[in-house]
This record gives sequence, C-alpha cells and structure tokens, in this order.
Amino acid sequence: MSSVYPTRKSPPPEMATYTPPLTPPSNPVKSLKADPEPIDLHIPDNYVQHTLKTQKELPPISWNNWWRELQYLTVAILTITPSLAIYGMFTTKFRWQTALFSVFYYYVTGLGITAGYHRLWAHRSYNASRPLQYFLALAGSGAVEGSIKWWSRGHRAHHRYTDTDLDPYSAQKGFWWSHIGWMLVKPRRKPGVADVSDLSKNEIVRWQHRWYVWLILGMGFGLPTVVPGLFWGDWRGGFFFAGALRLTFVHHSTFCVNSLAHWLGESPFDDKHTPRDHVITAFATIGEGYHNFHHQFPMDYRNAIKWYQYDPTKWFIVACYKLGLASHLKTFPDNEVRKGQLTMQLKRLRQTQEKLTWAPDSNDLPVITWESFQEQSMKRPLILVAGFIHDVATFVDEHPGGRHLIVKYIGKDATTAFFGGVYDHSNAAHNLLSMHRVGILQHGYRQGLDDKAVPPAQRLRIARYSELGSSTAVSDAETLVGDKEDKDV
Ligand SMILES: [Zn+2]
Ligand SMILES: [Zn+2]
Repeated sequence: MSSVYPTRKSPPPEMATYTPPLTPPSNPVKSLKADPEPIDLHIPDNYVQHTLKTQKELPPISWNNWWRELQYLTVAILTITPSLAIYGMFTTKFRWQTALFSVFYYYVTGLGITAGYHRLWAHRSYNASRPLQYFLALAGSGAVEGSIKWWSRGHRAHHRYTDTDLDPYSAQKGFWWSHIGWMLVKPRRKPGVADVSDLSKNEIVRWQHRWYVWLILGMGFGLPTVVPGLFWGDWRGGFFFAGALRLTFVHHSTFCVNSLAHWLGESPFDDKHTPRDHVITAFATIGEGYHNFHHQFPMDYRNAIKWYQYDPTKWFIVACYKLGLASHLKTFPDNEVRKGQLTMQLKRLRQTQEKLTWAPDSNDLPVITWESFQEQSMKRPLILVAGFIHDVATFVDEHPGGRHLIVKYIGKDATTAFFGGVYDHSNAAHNLLSMHRVGILQHGYRQGLDDKAVPPAQRLRIARYSELGSSTAVSDAETLVGDKEDKDV
C-alpha cells in the first residue's frame, strides 16, 4: 500500500507530541525546485492593514441591490434541498430502515467534512492513508459544501484572519452572516490570502476537484437513494430522507461551526477572539464544539481534550489510527494548553479581585514620625502594627477580645502582641486590621516583617506584569546577584 505520506509508525495519540504541520517531502531539494511557490511567500509585512485599507469592497447588501448580489447556485442548493425534505416528509412513508440509514449517512458525510475537509486537509492535524483519503473525499462530497480545495482555502483564511474583514465568515458580521449569509451573496471582499499549495499537489484533492459535480450528485443524492432502494425497496424514502433531509441537517450542522461555535459558550483557553466552547455546539457539529480550543491549537487532531467530552470526529480519527489508516496524530504540548487555561482562570480571578476593596499600601500612605504618632495618638486611637499606623476608632468596641486590649496599645507598637504575643490573630483579623491603615511610621519598617506587612488576602494578589514596579524587578536581580545577603539574614 503506497501513501502520499510516509507510513512510519507514529506514537499512540496520547503520547504524540506537537510536530511541524508539513510532512517533509522525501527529497526537499528536488521538491523545492519543482513545486510552485506558496502564494503568501512574498506578501508585505503589513499585508493585513494594507489590504483592509486599499482593497475595494463590494457595496453593502441593500433592498436595491440584493437580487443582483445573490450567488444563485448556492441559493438554489440551500433552498431546494430543505424544500425537497419538507415535501418528502408530508408525502412519503417513514420506514425505520431508511431512518436508521439516514442517521448513519448523516454521520458518514458529516465526518467527511469534520475529519476530512477540516482536520485532515485544512489543518493537516494527522496523516491519512490513500484509502482513508478516498473515503473522506467521497464522504465529504456527499455533504455538498464545495470541493476540498475551495473549502480549505476559505477555512485557512478564517483561522488566519479570525474576526476581521479578511475572514470570509467573520463572526463580527453577525450570527446569520457567519452561518449562511456569506454563501448566499457574492463575497464582499476577497478572503485574505492563505496558501493551499500542499493541497494542489495532493492527487486525491485534485481528483475530487476535477470530478466534483459528478461526485456531489452521486454521493449527495445517488448513493443515499440507491442503498435503501436496492436493499429494502424504499427508493423514494432514500431520496427524500437519506438524500434531501439528511443533507439539510449536514449543511446546518457544519454551518454551526462558523456561527454557533463563535457565539455560544465559554473561552477557557483565550478570549482574544470570538470562538467558544460549548457542549450543545459539539452535539450539533459531530464534535466541533470545542472551538475555543480549536482556534488556539488548530493543528491538534482533537477538539475536545477531556475523555468525557463529545468529539466523535476525534474518536473516528483514533479508530482509523488503530486500524493503521491514519498516522502522525498531532497534539499540542499539554504544558502549553494548561498555560492558556491558567491565564483565563487568573483573568476571572482578577475580575473577582477587582470587585473587592483593598488596604492602602505603603505608597499611598503618609509617612509619620514617631513623635507625630505619639502626639496624634492623644487625639484618636492610633496603634502601630508591622510598621503601619492604624486608626481603630470604629473598631475598638467591636474587638472580640475586648476594648481594653486595644486601648492598652494606643500610641504603642502592638506588632508582637498582635502576631501571637497576646493572641495569634486570624488571617481575617489581619485583613480587617489593614483596612484601618492611616499612615506608615518613618523608619518603622523592620527586616523580617515582610509577611506581616502584607495582609494575607493580598499575598497571592494577581498583578499584571506592568504593575510589578521596577523595585520588584531590581530586588529580584539583587537576589540573583547578592544571594549572600539572604543567607546572612
Ligand atoms: Zn472558527
Ligand atoms: Zn478549523
């Protein structure tokens, strides 16, 4: 069995690691000379901004021009198919064999798109043997969504220019535009450049492109009519249910990847763009519902990374791998995946953090001399703890240990008493105390007080790198250079 890809044994999927997207040609020098250049090899550095600014756009769709702007062939396919399905539902008897076959054929043709067009050809997330490629090319033709080459070219532009005007189905233009609108009218501008020279070289992709019209007729309507017709005599049911009704479902199921998957759910890996993760989308799209993960790690053969999440496309690829039909299943390093998750978790925690009121830190407080502290303590109840001066007027009567224990320390340093000398206060008490800060004692900061000067709730505070002032950076550097000082302490 020959293959366009090397048939070297690859590690099992769970052990597979990230590998570069292109399977290296057997003779790189020879093939570099023979192959056409990738179309995006010489694009300018400012390609995106330049194109958005200078490329002409077709006028917006309006009541005056919509009939001139329609793509009539697509409109016909996407309206006649559901009409046939509805007509069939009212005029044709349901037979359970045909119903079962329709569901089965829905999965076959759906997988042609998800496992074939999408994960194999558009993203090269694994390698497929020739028989598997032919199967996926045929199954994908039955979904009637354009040839592999056309589909993958648009999808690569979608990933590269997500949410911009160079994304052919940008979710920024609304749910219905990204679901179906973008196909019904002429594209308002050319999709951003995306190279598909690897697909132009693929024999099976070329074969499918050449025979595409015959393949969609055969796989979209011919086969689903003939199988129920020949095996249980239900030609009519085959045509309307396994053909038209099944195709309507496959269409809208895969369209949901562009609409629903950019609209419904969470962003557990990154929230820079619109892709989302949601189980409902996964059920609607044969497992393409973990789209936030997918846009972050597009060359990963999985969409769902947890075993219990619904991703039949991943299961199908793994089954093909076990059967020796697929190899080189790519996964992103788990360490990098978890970084994305952690970043989003920290982001959410940061939002919680920002809703709370925090104690003023030393930069926001006036520096008070010991004499001034003494003098002001005569007028209001001021207590010194860990270098900070606290005004406890509103708390003195609330103190669980009694008023007298606070009054005793007015104008004095209560650090030792507070931190275990008299009572080892709880973290909550320390947090509360810090809210009463009114000043910082001049020369009052002593070595070894670091963990006492920072209230417990602020020790794991989430800070942006820009908020970590130069003092932090310098002290880090000093630690690295002058480790000696730490040892002396
Ligand atoms: Zn997307
Ligand atoms: Zn994709």
